[in-house]
Amino acid sequence: MKLGRIAVVTDTGRRRLGNEDAYVWRPPLFAIADGMGGAKAGEIAAGIAADTLEGADSRPLDADDLATLISEANVRIWERSLNDPATAGMGTTFTVALVDEEAGAVVFGHVGDSRAYRVRDGVLEQITTDHSLVAELVESGVLTPEEAERHPQRSAITRALGTEPEVEPDVFTIEVAPGDLFLLCSDGLSDMLTEDQIAAAIERTDGDPTAAGEELVRKANAEGGDDNITVLLFEIVEGEPVPLADEARQTAAPETDGAGAGEAPLAEAPEAEPVEKLRKHGAGPGGRIAAILFLLAVLVVAALVLYWGIAR
Ligand code: MG
Repeated sequence: MKLGRIAVVTDTGRRRLGNEDAYVWRPPLFAIADGMGGAKAGEIAAGIAADTLEGADSRPLDADDLATLISEANVRIWERSLNDPATAGMGTTFTVALVDEEAGAVVFGHVGDSRAYRVRDGVLEQITTDHSLVAELVESGVLTPEEAERHPQRSAITRALGTEPEVEPDVFTIEVAPGDLFLLCSDGLSDMLTEDQIAAAIERTDGDPTAAGEELVRKANAEGGDDNITVLLFEIVEGEPVPLADEARQTAAPETDGAGAGEAPLAEAPEAEPVEKLRKHGAGPGGRIAAILFLLAVLVVAALVLYWGIAR
């Protein structure tokens, strides 16, 4: 089996001014980072995490490499925050997926409350465990999963990259089957939509990664768009793995708007056209400010016309 179609969509949402999510698009390696911290700190933390993966060797990686890279990213963010007071306390989630086509498996590395889901035979299943307060309260029976979904503290995470000198990521491997679709997402998706809504959006789009990604972001914005939304989807299909070093797989890096990790070479099976979608939400705060300025200009012109009329 091998990697099939892949897609990523990142969106500022409807409430935030900037996008502090980052992602890594370096097939067969993918990741999502959701930064936290004041001013630009969250963006910096997420960016360092993504850059660390982008800078990894191009030789085939394994689970141990993934754990090492996550620790390395942790140290880089931690040290930056010590040396740069403006970024003190910054951190990020990090959910990494490494597709091992030869082994028919995906290795995951995970810290925080971004999520990985698998869709198999139409059934959506969360395969990462949130490192969050509410997840721990559900685990210990204090909250029901339904209460956790609406809990005001649901964004509080108990493990993050860069907030301590060391971090313990969850690293695990799962077997895959042709037809599996994987979704990595930031909490801007999973806080806005229930699992039933996520599953329904994927089903409506027939599991097409690009269409599903756009539909998920559209739905999350329709439900309020309270946070930055990033979704990255990849499917596993029947077929022979293409050697990593095969030049034919190399195509231009997807265009980014600075939210993603950027300059990664994009490798993809030739028959499966990779699609990259990035967009900002059009009716965000920027749009509203423009509308208010326009209204003010109209009022000023009306007042001047009125004044000119009276003065005559
Ligand atoms: Mg978030």
